[in-house]
Amino acid sequence: MTPVSLGIPTIRQQPPGDDGADPFAAGPLTDTFGRVHRDLRVSLTDKCSLRCTYCMPAEGVPWLPQREVLTTDEIVRVVSVAVRLGITEVRLTGGEPLLRADITDVVARLTQLETVAGPLRVSLTTNGLRLPELMDELVAAGLERVNVSLDTVNAQRYHDLTRRDRFAQAVAGVEAVQRSGLRPFKMNAVAMRDINDDELCDLLRFAIAHEAELRFIEMMPLDAGHSWRREQMVTAEEILASLRREFRLTPAGDRASSPAEVFQVNDGPHTVGVIGSVTRPFCGACDRVRLTADGQLRNCLFAREESDLREILRGDAAAAEQDLQIARVMRAAILGKRAGHGINEPGFLQPDRPMSAIGG
Ligand code: SAM
Ligand code: SF4
Repeated sequence: MTPVSLGIPTIRQQPPGDDGADPFAAGPLTDTFGRVHRDLRVSLTDKCSLRCTYCMPAEGVPWLPQREVLTTDEIVRVVSVAVRLGITEVRLTGGEPLLRADITDVVARLTQLETVAGPLRVSLTTNGLRLPELMDELVAAGLERVNVSLDTVNAQRYHDLTRRDRFAQAVAGVEAVQRSGLRPFKMNAVAMRDINDDELCDLLRFAIAHEAELRFIEMMPLDAGHSWRREQMVTAEEILASLRREFRLTPAGDRASSPAEVFQVNDGPHTVGVIGSVTRPFCGACDRVRLTADGQLRNCLFAREESDLREILRGDAAAAEQDLQIARVMRAAILGKRAGHGINEPGFLQPDRPMSAIGG
């Protein structure tokens, strides 16, 4: 397989053995640029306990009707088909995944699935608010890793940014992960101009004190109000310049398929990462595919098309035939994946769904 660069791939190739016959006999989910897909992001709900300004409007968004949200049995079915197609890792997200009432059950059932590389690896991205009560159960259910999103270490700012007075709860969530021993423990922070760009070093100190690896993320055009402006985004370069005023950063290891460029802080052992989704796209190494809470498969965060798996799941076909249909749709969706997200191209159109409804 021709290796692809991290930026935007240019060389198209015919994926091996994809003749449309038995979708389970055609090797892993490979697109026309040679990218092999191993990572499935599963959104468990579009609802959230916060209203982060870059994600949701204050009044929320029209929630999916409950009957449209996949049941746990349906999620496990889709993931088990994906596993037969070579997926080895699932990240549960949302909305806020810990709002799902049966979250522990979802984790316990998914971690039972056997992949080509051993048991399915299941991790979670969360705002952390429910972690103090759920952490032990999640660990017992086999959860491998947790990412907690926290954009500020200032209580008033947290309130302004999330429109909720839950800073203490979020910090308790971070402490719960620290105590749990699940590692690596990653924290995500979106850097925003004139909002939190004066506290990037404080955020890094907070993360290090809680044994977390901080990942700064460039703000992407995925807000429900479509109000993203390039000028509000703090670029990867600016983030690094700001951190270098107080820390010595040296590149750490190979980026592989990770979106983050990782640096050792003051010669280690702690690290910090920068995810330059907009200015330093990593589409060339993308191995991700996404399932929305209402059962739509998306081949990219920025995809403008979706493939309906819920319709298959709720159709009349026998279970084995449904699995075949789901597998075919997954293969077709991956074959249709574009080279890159196109944010930097003139005709870029933001997806209709906001991040909270896609699954970040
Ligand atoms: N509610 C959970 C959380 O906040 O971690 C999971 C879902 S949230 C959509 C997943 C991640 O997407 C969070 O780290 C959040 O900061 C990030 N995110 C949301 N909107 C974003 C945007 N417009 N640009 C960059 N990252 C964004
Ligand atoms: Fe909720 Fe996460 Fe969106 Fe914030 S970023 S509003 S916590 S889904």
